Amino acid sequence: MTTRIYHGDLDPRLIARNLMASFDRGNYIVQQIGNEQDLAVQIATRPHQRSGGRTAMTATISKVADGISITLGQQNWFGLAASLGYTAIGAVRNPLSLLNRLDDIAQDVESIMLEDKIWEVVDQTARQFGTGQALSERLSRTICPFCNTANPIASARCLACGAPLGDVQPMTCPTCGFVVDKKEVICPNCKTRL
Ligand SMILES: [Zn+2]
Ligand SMILES: [Zn+2]
Repeated sequence: MTTRIYHGDLDPRLIARNLMASFDRGNYIVQQIGNEQDLAVQIATRPHQRSGGRTAMTATISKVADGISITLGQQNWFGLAASLGYTAIGAVRNPLSLLNRLDDIAQDVESIMLEDKIWEVVDQTARQFGTGQALSERLSRTICPFCNTANPIASARCLACGAPLGDVQPMTCPTCGFVVDKKEVICPNCKTRL
């Protein structure tokens, strides 16, 4: 499971709509459930497609304070591994057999890339609406721990009381957008080294 957070004013329905537009054709079928605050979009290969094994992946999109959070669930494989296995075994026995299965291989490889392709659509949508994984304006304020005054991000000292603010600046993980503490070396959400 991977979660990414996009900060800013973004409607989960826009992400769902773009996923729908990008995947609901050809070998995939897309279903959407839930309401505008909590949406789940399932992208699955069609039950009776001609090539490749079957796979499905669900993206859960929720509104969180100041943005949206998107989680991609574990990908279900159904016959995918079996389909690839069959191809590999067939090729050992008879390399020419691969020629008959080129469609299957192409579809299976495409399915393996599904997670990356979903993130690509999500990233594009977020960029299109001016949001991203950097902190939004509201979160980009640092509250002085001494006098509770809101200061612009990256202020070295509090505007009101002059206290040093270097240690209380919030920042986000460059990979997943999670708000992390300056002292953290590994992102608690995606385990990237910060
Ligand atoms: Zn202060
Ligand atoms: Zn992260």
